[in-house]
Amino acid sequence: MDLNSVNNISDSEYDKKLRPLTFSDFTGQTNVVQNLSIYVEAAKQRNEPLDHVLLYGPPGLGKTTLSAIIANHLHVNMKSTSGPVLDKPGDLAGILTSLEPHDVLFIDEIHRLSPVVEEYLYSAMEDYKIDIIIDKGPGARTIQIDLNPFTLVGATTRSGLLTSPLRARFGIPLHLEYYDADTLAKIIKRSASILGVSIDDDSSYEIARRSRGTPRIANALLRRVRDFAQVLGDGSIDKKITDKSLSAQNIDTLGLNDLDRKLLLTVIDKFGGGPVGVSTIATAIGEDVGTVEEVYEPYLIQQGFIKRTPRGRVVTKLAYDHFGRTGFVNDNQPTLFSDL
Ligand code: ADP
Repeated sequence: MDLNSVNNISDSEYDKKLRPLTFSDFTGQTNVVQNLSIYVEAAKQRNEPLDHVLLYGPPGLGKTTLSAIIANHLHVNMKSTSGPVLDKPGDLAGILTSLEPHDVLFIDEIHRLSPVVEEYLYSAMEDYKIDIIIDKGPGARTIQIDLNPFTLVGATTRSGLLTSPLRARFGIPLHLEYYDADTLAKIIKRSASILGVSIDDDSSYEIARRSRGTPRIANALLRRVRDFAQVLGDGSIDKKITDKSLSAQNIDTLGLNDLDRKLLLTVIDKFGGGPVGVSTIATAIGEDVGTVEEVYEPYLIQQGFIKRTPRGRVVTKLAYDHFGRTGFVNDNQPTLFSDL
């Protein structure tokens, strides 16, 4: 494919092209993929619907992709919706009644379902039945209707916010982890080859290292590096172009972006390194608390820049050193068990 034709395609179309369609295309998360493919195969052999699947982990790690792969392997359709979109039980009823036998219903951000919709989902998940109200006023009555057996795939970045009755209804809960750099480098090479761009090993590894363990970010960085290669070079991606592009995007050598740095430096400079509450941090950097907790913190905690303690967040010595700051004091703060 030549570069001009590549550039006529929008980023969201790329997203579609880069999405793996089968378990064997899906790189990494080996355990999750191995187990899921067995469950899918077993359900197919028994001609039963697959048990309901809960996929949890930070954004961009492949939850939506895996759900589509499940549907693909089951040779069924996938209908997608998300927690905040389903306002009332009627919205959900419309979708549930449209499902064909063994179809996959994907609900993203399932922790954000309203309590009434969630409760409505219980009988659908358990017995494939729902109650619907027909007629209005004094003649209104409830009838129970049977649904085609289906598989619910729920995705969440915050499994802790799921109610226990909902969580208990998922037979297959699976946790997605951040990807290591070697695995991300393979994903980047695959994406580059789909995009028809040549990239050397050093460059794919460098982009991988700076992608916060996240395929979505790796693919996004790859696209921007490719722009640099096209305009400033001959279209192929080498280490020099890669470094130039990544620093132009303010991605530092450890993969931290502007907001990561702002967050860490705010805690260091304005709050003496912590402890400080997450909502105070969010206000200080002008971000939403949920975004800080779901998107930024998990990676910073995983990389050892921040600790959650019973008294709030503290920044670690690693972060002080990374920014060349002195005055680190929080050495003995206990870590919350949930982060261990
Ligand atoms: P989530 O639903 O967890 O936010 P997505 O499934 O939307 O994440 O994945 C984001 C992007 O990353 C997708 O466009 C997909 O192409 C890519 N991606 C995710 N996981 C993988 C993987 N294991 N291998 C290759 N590409 C992946």
